[in-house]
Amino acid sequence: MRITTNIQELQQELRPIGVELVAVSKTKSIEEIQEAYDAGQRIFGENHVQELITKQESLPQDIAWHMIGHLQTNKVKYIAPFITLIHGVDSFKLLQEINKHAQKNNRIIDCLLQMFIAEETTKFGLDHVEVIELLENPLLNTLKNIRIRGLMGIATHTDNEKEVKEEFYELKTLFDGIKLNYFRKETTFDILSMGMSADYKIAIGQGSTMVRLGSTIFGQRVIKHYKAQ
Ligand SMILES: *Cc1c(COP(=O)(O)O)cnc(C)c1O
Repeated sequence: MRITTNIQELQQELRPIGVELVAVSKTKSIEEIQEAYDAGQRIFGENHVQELITKQESLPQDIAWHMIGHLQTNKVKYIAPFITLIHGVDSFKLLQEINKHAQKNNRIIDCLLQMFIAEETTKFGLDHVEVIELLENPLLNTLKNIRIRGLMGIATHTDNEKEVKEEFYELKTLFDGIKLNYFRKETTFDILSMGMSADYKIAIGQGSTMVRLGSTIFGQRVIKHYKAQ
């Protein structure tokens, strides 16, 4: 009941302003995800490949699964048949690998470039120079089976709202600049994935089009890692 209410409240908050909700279901059970699905939620995000494929097999097939975590090149093949959006692309090599497996599955896979915007050194992502290098790679337009849909970023985990706001502002500014310079003619560069439970309202204020919420929907995560039976 709690999950149902949370989903309904969030949809009421986000739909009118056109912000897409990714329900982050990592570590959560099939039953909990099914409850969110029954409440009308169709987009779910996971950050471990094994957990993602186990859940994809046992839940309704019209779920749009998003890979929100760091993706290793050798694991792309397992999710390529069904994945809807890959948020964490942080190298050209990974993009090439996604393209290869998308081609094998006769699909075009949507991707977001993950930008490093936080203070912490542990978070993955591209910096300003690396993202330009990737976008100017002469081989990029040979990758016909991927589509770069936008950017994703994770802000610093801090109570300092001003700092979080500045990081999201920086990401939005970068998004606008890249759109203008590299995707001016495409209408499909349109996703800015920023905002988690602690900071999604700040992210929306700075122009987020997609928020990734776990604990706001499902409650705090108690177990760190989901174990497949
Ligand atoms: C876990 C996770 C989230 C959701 O975190 P909450 O704080 O529970 O909302 C969002 N994005 C990424 C990349 C995550 O790994």
